[in-house]
Amino acid sequence: MSTVQTNAALQQLRTQVISAGVSSVTPVHVESARGAIVRDVEGKEYIDFGGGIGVMNIGHCHPKVVAAIKAQAEKFHHTCFMVNPYEVAIKLAEKLCRATPGDFPKKAIFVNSGAECVENAVKIARYYTKRPAVIVFENAYHGRTLLAMTMTSKVKPYKFGFGPFAPEVYRMPFGDVVGPEKLKDFFLQHVNPEAVACVVAEPVQGEGGFIAPPPGYFQELVKICRENGILFVADEIQSGMGRTGTMFAIEHWGVEPDLITVAKSMGAGMPIASVVGRKEIMDSVHPYGLGGTYGGNPVASAAALAVLEIFEEEDMLGKARALGQKLGARFEAFRKKYPVVGEVRGLGAMLGLALVKGAGREPAAEEAKKLAAFCLERGLIILVCGTYSNVVRVLAPFVITDEQLEKGLSILEAGLQAISA
Ligand code: PMP
Repeated sequence: MSTVQTNAALQQLRTQVISAGVSSVTPVHVESARGAIVRDVEGKEYIDFGGGIGVMNIGHCHPKVVAAIKAQAEKFHHTCFMVNPYEVAIKLAEKLCRATPGDFPKKAIFVNSGAECVENAVKIARYYTKRPAVIVFENAYHGRTLLAMTMTSKVKPYKFGFGPFAPEVYRMPFGDVVGPEKLKDFFLQHVNPEAVACVVAEPVQGEGGFIAPPPGYFQELVKICRENGILFVADEIQSGMGRTGTMFAIEHWGVEPDLITVAKSMGAGMPIASVVGRKEIMDSVHPYGLGGTYGGNPVASAAALAVLEIFEEEDMLGKARALGQKLGARFEAFRKKYPVVGEVRGLGAMLGLALVKGAGREPAAEEAKKLAAFCLERGLIILVCGTYSNVVRVLAPFVITDEQLEKGLSILEAGLQAISA
């Protein structure tokens, strides 16, 4: 294979061979990455405030993850856990069951992606409750497979043209000021609670715009679920693995979900994801009812096990909290200084700036796009999210150095000045 060494050449080749349905928000083709730095094929370095969409919480190519991957790769790559099981996945399940909230016996399954664990959480909830319906929220994102896409809120680009959708998915507003009172009304107007298997919620909504719920919201929501025999599923795919300063975001409200979905930063880039939940729920499914060829792949499991060890050994939660505080202080200052910043959104190190314009403070999607492009040009990768595409968000690795963070934030501030001019 010949090597092509410029972004432009790779971009050209890419457009010939990669489906137009798969877009990349930057034309920057990666050569290598370390910590919070991504280096492209032309040798230019970028500070990574995106972390591959929340996957690199412990940083790119952490030496212990690299070592774990190499060591496992030398032993075996695959047997299929459903054929010949192995220790590394079992150890991982043991650790993950301990790391997830809930003071009760838990069990885990492993799959390959976020969408796949959302699908499995719903399968398990339906099996256990023998009920069909699923309640999700406005601004939700749960993935791109048929059921996960149906559960996702934003129409374009995620759903438009891809219907018909899966049945029995009902959507309510998230974190509404009147809170779960709405749920009671919802049971009257949309779906009877006796038909509902589970409520699936992102504790802090990610793709929908870094929306944290009001205080007390989840406690009340889960109380209503319990009163009605409905399982509560926390989709922690983006908000988990330390991002908000606790291992899982739902811990901020002392809530113990029946099922939790974990993916993204769990494998530090290796495709591995998990549903963890109450033992009796996870065990209710008949043998061979759950699984897949690659679920709990040994190399990915070794990486994920190393990630959990790194959290313990290197105080990743402390690092996340420190990052959250620094970001929070700076973002608050930006909000006061630049009218284009309408709101600081999120929790901990899962923080975003919601950009607005005009007297009505309308969502400013164009400005968010311009800001991200301005930053990229100057060596900062930053992602946009939100139902209205106006939230500039930070999912930077926790291992980012003060110097890198400062440099990234000064580029971001220069960008805010530029779009405000
Ligand atoms: N749920 C949430 C909360 C997510 O943020 C994502 C990915 N952005 C998914 C599910 C889907 O994960 P994946 O892309 O690995 O399928």
